[in-house]
Amino acid sequence: MMASLETGRVALGAMETGVRRVAVIGAGTMGSGIAAHFANAGIPVDLLDIRDADGGAGPAKAGIARQLKTAGFMTASAAKLVKPGTIEDDLDRVAQADWIVEAVIENLDIKRKLYARLEGLRKPGSIVASNTSTIPRAALVEGATEAFKRDFIITHFFNPPRVMELLELVIAPETSTQVEQTVRAAARHALGKTAVDCRDTPGFIANRIGCFWIAVAILEAARRGLSIEEADAVQTVFGIPRTGAFGLMDLIGIDLIPTVWGSLADALPETDELHAFDLPKWDVAARLIAAGALGRKTGAGFYRKNKDGSREVLDLANGEYRPQQALAPDALPGGGRDVRALLADDGPLGQYAAAVLARVVAYAATHGPDIAVETADIDVAMQLGYSWREGPLKLAEKAGLDTVCASIESLGLAVPALLEAGPVDRTSPKGEAVSVAALLSGADEIAGNPDASLRDIGDGIAVFEIHTKMNSISPAVQDILEQAVARAGAGYRALLIANASPRAFSAGADLGHFYSVIEQGDFAGLHRFIRRGQELFLALKYASVPVVAAVQGVALGGGCELSLHADAVIAHSEARLGVPEANLGVLPGWGGCTQLLLRTQAGGGTGGPLAAAASAFELVRGAYVSGSAPEAAEHRFLRPGDDIVMHRDDVFSTARARAIAMADGYAAPDRAMIPVTGRSGWLSLMSNVRGAVAAGRLTETDARVAGAIAEVLTGGADGDPSRLQSEDDLMRLECEALVGLARTPETRDRMGHFLTTGKPLRN
Ligand code: NAD
Repeated sequence: MMASLETGRVALGAMETGVRRVAVIGAGTMGSGIAAHFANAGIPVDLLDIRDADGGAGPAKAGIARQLKTAGFMTASAAKLVKPGTIEDDLDRVAQADWIVEAVIENLDIKRKLYARLEGLRKPGSIVASNTSTIPRAALVEGATEAFKRDFIITHFFNPPRVMELLELVIAPETSTQVEQTVRAAARHALGKTAVDCRDTPGFIANRIGCFWIAVAILEAARRGLSIEEADAVQTVFGIPRTGAFGLMDLIGIDLIPTVWGSLADALPETDELHAFDLPKWDVAARLIAAGALGRKTGAGFYRKNKDGSREVLDLANGEYRPQQALAPDALPGGGRDVRALLADDGPLGQYAAAVLARVVAYAATHGPDIAVETADIDVAMQLGYSWREGPLKLAEKAGLDTVCASIESLGLAVPALLEAGPVDRTSPKGEAVSVAALLSGADEIAGNPDASLRDIGDGIAVFEIHTKMNSISPAVQDILEQAVARAGAGYRALLIANASPRAFSAGADLGHFYSVIEQGDFAGLHRFIRRGQELFLALKYASVPVVAAVQGVALGGGCELSLHADAVIAHSEARLGVPEANLGVLPGWGGCTQLLLRTQAGGGTGGPLAAAASAFELVRGAYVSGSAPEAAEHRFLRPGDDIVMHRDDVFSTARARAIAMADGYAAPDRAMIPVTGRSGWLSLMSNVRGAVAAGRLTETDARVAGAIAEVLTGGADGDPSRLQSEDDLMRLECEALVGLARTPETRDRMGHFLTTGKPLRN
């Protein structure tokens, strides 16, 4: 069960890894981001950097402030777990750390001197990890004590540390087993990272292949006379993010070319193919750097966005900017999606694509065995470190190994042995998400239709799985939920609400259905849809078996309400829960208002029912959606007994284990009874709303929605403060209020606008 600290939640299993306190030295881009991410798991951190001009901890404090600004922290309160300090004055704090992360500038001498100082201060057996990108382990530990070498490891994070799932490890034979195990466990359970084992070679895996790819993609385009738009569009067909190679350079900064590509090239043997694609020597890049056109941070790079909003792009032939010509995907051979069709094209785009793919695949396959401990990890590193849909080896298989090998030969390169051996063995354990999909589709279906299924996954556990677009809740989804409720206790002993999509637990009620019912003026039908949802959700809450929700991605509106009725929630740390209904001119009508009111009351604040109603009102009227699971927990979308897991691949298995653990001896909760504040409460909640309308912060439609929400939360127009309400009493109010709002043209316009544009309408 989740422990909780004053400052927030501790992720499930984080403390049990043995990493209970961390020191991060170097509070720059990476160090501050790594510190923030440990804090996201609930682990306290000392963040040290050099002194400022006044002798204070300015640089460390600035690092914390930067992470607050750029959402490196999942909650503002997590920042309180990071204690700033200076290396000069506070280095002795490392004595308390189980894991010391070194993230100072990339300078061997500075790093080594720091390690020497750590020797006398750190506690025996504590982990010392360097975040170096380019310095070999062997050089870092040269001259260090045996004990230091045993405790030393390279942990290479990607930027930004909260977001990027890859963590590259360099473990030497001399690394102690304890250090290795602790780092692996903490990487997964505290940081949610997927660790990939690298050999001690320059750039490790992702940057070695990634830098080569960028150099080849850019220089092949320049040599073949392709435009920047064409080159970047071709990369997307490979499943590489839309920026392509030129756009990515603009994003990370063209000024990195001399340092990053230069030092990588210096560290590689002369025979390495990177030397044939010498980006630092490319005159176009040199001219851009000299002109201060470094990419997005300076407003201009390969692309340029002008003050009037117009977009331009560099003409590689003459070095002048010209208007950008958006390239529609279907202008590419194969319609922009089909790699094989693109490679089969013998025009300039097909030839360029074939050359880039052949060179990158040949490079990855030639060096793969020397840089990765497991070959399959080459693909994993590019997927998780560079956000490629597939890695280069998988991509080659998709494109056709014979075709790619023929291209490699036609470029005069040797076909690497790895490619001749055929497809790569991918039975490595890093594909949990895939295995959830396989587990669900392979399980016996107890009930099902195109929108949802109830499946038997063994151990007496059934899974209710929605499979509509964004897992929205349609009447057909309700049909299966009804079957799930009916079979509780007879067909299974615990129910899991889960699916294999990383994007959505459920984005809410099926708005298409909702809107069409409104458009037809079928308010009786709408009433039925709402009431049925309420009855099913309440039946879930009071079922004779435990109901556990495995939440990842978004749980919004009706999807959030579904999770609010589960007996336990296991949420991925990046899950976003919330009740955005007010933006659409409605309110949470499947028990959302009722459950949030109950939870704010259970929070035990000092203000009584009115203060509770005010908290719930603020969330619902404000259409609150959390930015993370810990933040959702602060607003009671998760309860103290719910758990947050940092690695997305652990959500399903943790939820299943919880369901099994809860099944024996389970008793449904007692029915809740809810005090309400009545008319005086309504007036109090609404007291600021009229003023906000007068000041132009809220519209009349907002005020009407607010009034309806306030009415539900205070027990209705004639709510009686002397009588406790049942959940069903309040849910009936929700239903009436929702149908009432749905009858107004303003609400219909908000829904219609959202359905066509995906954006809220302020009317
Ligand atoms: P940075 O320049 O943003 O931060 C480095 C920090 O080190 C600064 O805050 C600086 O004040 C501090 N520092 C300088 N001299 C110091 C000294 N003598 N003692 C202690 N601290 C000192 O750099 P960064 O991008 O955060 O990189 C840090 C490390 O992480 C480097 O080893 C780098 O190679 C590696 N890395 C960077 C990235 C990236 O994308 N930026 C990614 C992975 C790894």
